[in-house]
Amino acid sequence: MDIKSDLAAAVGNTPLIRLRAASEATGCEILGKAEFLNPGQSVKDRAALWMIRDAVAKGTLKPGGTIVEGTAGNTGIGLALVGASMGFKTVIVIPETQSQEKKDMLRLAGAELVQVPAAPYRNPNNYVRYSGRLAEELAKTTPEGVLWANQFDNVANRQAHIDATGPEIWEQTQGKVDGFVSAVGTGGTLAGVGMALQPKGVKIALADPEGAALHSFYTTGELKAEGDSITEGIGQGRITANLEGFTPDFSYKIPDSEALPIVFDLLKHEGLCLGGSSGINIAGAIRLARELGPGHTIVTVLCDYGTRYQSKLFNPDFLKAKGLPAPDWLDRGPSSIP
Ligand code: PMP
Repeated sequence: MDIKSDLAAAVGNTPLIRLRAASEATGCEILGKAEFLNPGQSVKDRAALWMIRDAVAKGTLKPGGTIVEGTAGNTGIGLALVGASMGFKTVIVIPETQSQEKKDMLRLAGAELVQVPAAPYRNPNNYVRYSGRLAEELAKTTPEGVLWANQFDNVANRQAHIDATGPEIWEQTQGKVDGFVSAVGTGGTLAGVGMALQPKGVKIALADPEGAALHSFYTTGELKAEGDSITEGIGQGRITANLEGFTPDFSYKIPDSEALPIVFDLLKHEGLCLGGSSGINIAGAIRLARELGPGHTIVTVLCDYGTRYQSKLFNPDFLKAKGLPAPDWLDRGPSSIP
């Protein structure tokens, strides 16, 4: 019998899927780690599970306790679902600008939602800082304990990728992986997989969207952000605790105009329905493949499922308003088949 004891046991061990067009165009094997197949449909289920387990082990969180987090969405969905399966309540602070689908899913997953206006980190009402204060408040009246997950600076997040994602990639490729590419939200995925695989000789590359400051940091030493991106969940402006102690071998700046056509082509021709950050990652994998040359195996992350972005990434009106390319077939009306 092959039975998972609960939802938490179903997190991780995701397949690697060969990305056909990207592989053929580069002469490399470009493989996507299908994180959208996690129970909460994103890579963040892993961080959620590791942060909860860590808090339970430390005694911060006892049965009936509450998890609080400021999140752009996916971590909240992971925390709410894994939390529910382990008997915890979840309160999520989210910027108003995030997609309606993610907010609906968070409510469905049982999270209580606190929406705040989007504000930079230096503003005390930034969603992350707001969630920290809320956790302190709730702790005063919650004897079962409150975990402020604090995914950006809680290194139990990257530990998930040191313990699981990195070793899974090594085993699934039988050690043949030459390169790994990831964008950064918290840095858990990039630094965690990096810490697991860089010592084995795997080249690690950052794929940074416009509007993020890390490409500038790793190439010039200065945290400088320019431009803008419609991708959600990625684009960091500071060195988080999860990024500390890790340096990628390569770094690429990827504009949306390079990443989005990859997302549309994968849906139309390879049946893969992905969010925008996966497009940034795959564009980065293609750049690393060109840097290393044909014959290499490059792994990247397919972070989350595309249905989460139907009103934005897959909405021709939204794309046109942003001056981004929208494929003709996205515009198609009802079927002409009677
Ligand atoms: N893609 C999406 C859609 C995400 O929500 C996140 C996490 N915020 C990431 C990528 C980046 O993952 P990490 O936090 O591990 O850097």
